[in-house]
Amino acid sequence: MPELPEVETTVRGLTRYLEGERIVRVTLNRADLRRPFPEGLVQSLTGATVTALGRRAKYGLIHTDRGSTMVFHLGMSGRWRIEPEAIEKHDHLVLETGSGHVLALNDARRFGSVDLIDTDQLDEWPPFAALGPEPLGDDLSPTHLQRAFAGRIAPVKQLLLDQRIVAGLGNIYVCEALHRAHVRPDKDAGKVSLPALKRLVPAIREVLNESIAAGGSTIRDYAQPSGELGYFASSWQVYGREGKPCACGADVQRFVQGGRSTFWCAKCQK
Ligand SMILES: [Zn+2]
Repeated sequence: MPELPEVETTVRGLTRYLEGERIVRVTLNRADLRRPFPEGLVQSLTGATVTALGRRAKYGLIHTDRGSTMVFHLGMSGRWRIEPEAIEKHDHLVLETGSGHVLALNDARRFGSVDLIDTDQLDEWPPFAALGPEPLGDDLSPTHLQRAFAGRIAPVKQLLLDQRIVAGLGNIYVCEALHRAHVRPDKDAGKVSLPALKRLVPAIREVLNESIAAGGSTIRDYAQPSGELGYFASSWQVYGREGKPCACGADVQRFVQGGRSTFWCAKCQK
């Protein structure tokens, strides 16, 4: 499932092919993904120039000079195929640019989505309106977490997965960041000390940035004819490593929290 770093990597990859480009053709090969493609999508994008690309949480943003933004979510299996040799069965939306680039949004399971939103209304768009700060932006600070966690007895891991507190953090990155910051995942959020929060914020950024950097090298490898953007694997210190040794020598443990696996080291995380 594409997480924030994969979406960021995808957006950076698409930027090379779309920024400043005029979209000359938009082809929809079916009517819907998780929900129908927005009405007027083809007309709105055809002839528009892409002014910039961006990301909010796990959504990619393609801004155009017509004051609208195409917002895409990769769902479970979505990916963009760059300059595909041939259009495949699951290439549901295809963009062609004035320079002859072809970009296909491929989504076999169709849990993804595409929306067309007025650019100046993006912050008020319901999926974005309640989102907390971006983890890689300046608004995520130890004091932001201190305020958000104050008095809360829910486990710190659960609250880090709450998109209203931090936008776009997934299970893997929360497990890894808590390990790096030496914070127990089941600790009451309100009892995490300020010094621990001051370790946690940079740990979150490091884990994400390392994954984005790893994805960057994947893009260089794959942004070729018929290349693909979307997935890469990183080596994790605790995630998926139950029973294997942590760097400290103790075994990584797993338990289920809120229906999801938490991996952690009882020796490193207090
Ligand atoms: Zn350890």
